[in-house]
Amino acid sequence: MSKSDTPPESTPKAATGTKGATFIAQTLSQAVYTLWRSFDEAGFETARLDARLLVIGATGVSREALLQTPEMVLTEDQCARIARYQQQRLGREPVSRILGHRDFYGRSFKISPATLDPRPETETLIECVLDYAKANDLLQKPLRIIDVGTGSGNLLLTLLAELPNASGVGIDISPAALKVANDNASRLGVLERATFQCQDGLQEPVESFDIFVSNPPYIVRDHIPELAPEVRDFDPHLALDGGEDGLAFYREMAPHITSVIPAGLAVFEIGYDQGDEVVDILKSHTQGHRTVQFEVKKDLAGHQRCVALQTLS
Ligand code: GLN
Repeated sequence: MSKSDTPPESTPKAATGTKGATFIAQTLSQAVYTLWRSFDEAGFETARLDARLLVIGATGVSREALLQTPEMVLTEDQCARIARYQQQRLGREPVSRILGHRDFYGRSFKISPATLDPRPETETLIECVLDYAKANDLLQKPLRIIDVGTGSGNLLLTLLAELPNASGVGIDISPAALKVANDNASRLGVLERATFQCQDGLQEPVESFDIFVSNPPYIVRDHIPELAPEVRDFDPHLALDGGEDGLAFYREMAPHITSVIPAGLAVFEIGYDQGDEVVDILKSHTQGHRTVQFEVKKDLAGHQRCVALQTLS
């Protein structure tokens, strides 16, 4: 147990959260401890981390300050904010949604109710593209990238940040999501290399590109009610719902892939059990197109996470 998590010794003060529950703390360490305990009792696996992140977010102190000045006295405003965040989290809202941002591949992305909360396993797609660029000596090349269902822009914008001469287009059906992606492009300093287009997948024709990435909605519709409340109640269903069998978007995009990527790499995120089916769908639409290589890649947890398809000229 670190110093900042030590149980409080002095008499704490109370603040009232949004749902009337009483939050009691006077110092940073008391706040962390109080939140940690309540999250632990609620059965959250990351109770302690959640508590720290929310206290940091609510007070504006740094991670270092949390450890170095655990006795820092909270203002009433800070207490009220911490109490509100505690109630939101106990209502199963993810920490990233409460704070309005999420780290992805080492960068902070703004998120909103209109965007999916980017997942760490989606970083597998970034690794896949960067490995391909490295292997083919393309890291400094003016690659053209398309990201279908860009959401917060995490895939496209991370690639633009990693590949200094690349430029690209982020497509999404939601104008509100595109506004967030645009803000993120500007925060990351890649706005001049990014454009955003509001359309439904590849239903309208697009030009050709070198790299295609997409994390489409792939949850089987009937499984959505069984998802964790953090996902079911807070991620936009538009970004989750993959139709009756979860594969609707792969079927929609597959016929367009060889014209969008005549010679290059296409990477699709998939559910852990969708590898064979997605490869089959893509194969049936790429037969006859010069040479096509398929690969199913796993994430760090060892689950199938993406299908990569290389089209060669
Ligand atoms: N591209 C975003 C992500 O990977 C959003 C994907 C989506 O909305 N399905 O997180």
